[in-house]
Amino acid sequence: RRFIDAGLHPVMLENVHNCGYDVPTPVQAYCIPAVLLGHDVVATAQTGSGKTAAYLIPILSRLMGKAGKVCGPKAGINGAQYPVRAEPIVVIVTPTRELTIQIFNECRRLCYRTKLRPCVIYGGVPARVQADDLRRGCDVLVATPGRLIDFMEKANTLSLNRCKFTVLDEADELLHTDWEPEMKKIMRGATNVQDDDHTYMMFSATFNKTCRKVAKEYMSEDRIRVT
Ligand code: AMP
Repeated sequence: RRFIDAGLHPVMLENVHNCGYDVPTPVQAYCIPAVLLGHDVVATAQTGSGKTAAYLIPILSRLMGKAGKVCGPKAGINGAQYPVRAEPIVVIVTPTRELTIQIFNECRRLCYRTKLRPCVIYGGVPARVQADDLRRGCDVLVATPGRLIDFMEKANTLSLNRCKFTVLDEADELLHTDWEPEMKKIMRGATNVQDDDHTYMMFSATFNKTCRKVAKEYMSEDRIRVT
């Protein structure tokens, strides 16, 4: 299989090429067509398998067709008022700061030459700079659960009302019992009641009971399972 046959947006094809990816990895070969068709996906994939691009490539490719519409609010420069909170279309949740940064960097390369604006938020640093960044517009958000909830609840900086794609990367870590309340809020917050074309994706090295429970609760029955 080749990227060129996958039906990707031409700008995405070019960005993939510029990332140096010639041939899809197995997890990409399964995920890209599934997500382009609008399926939910559960994938067993280790770090190093190319799982990040497996979800970023098809999601961003779908958004590129309508980037003009989906783009978040852009505030003026030089301290202009930031009137609107960020309303990302894609939310990628992952357990660690390191992983958010890694995913964000890959996301930036794959959004190159589009209007899509990625942002990254994680705990352990002051929220102010991240909040300012969000208010400049955010289409794709990469986040750790704690900081994501903080912004959703306290600061009125962020809303998941327009979110159409939710990705849990390292889902087994995220759905560890300690984080169950946070993850419930995020999954619920991302589900727009009027919207049944929400895409959920879960990537994990292992699938424990909680992962299966969450998949059953939120994902469509014809979800695709990739191992
Ligand atoms: P990941 O499993 O997402 O952590 O990706 C592991 C590494 O593989 C990253 O450095 C990616 O840039 C790289 N990568 C992802 N997809 C491909 C591909 N199709 N060909 C070559 N390298 C890739």
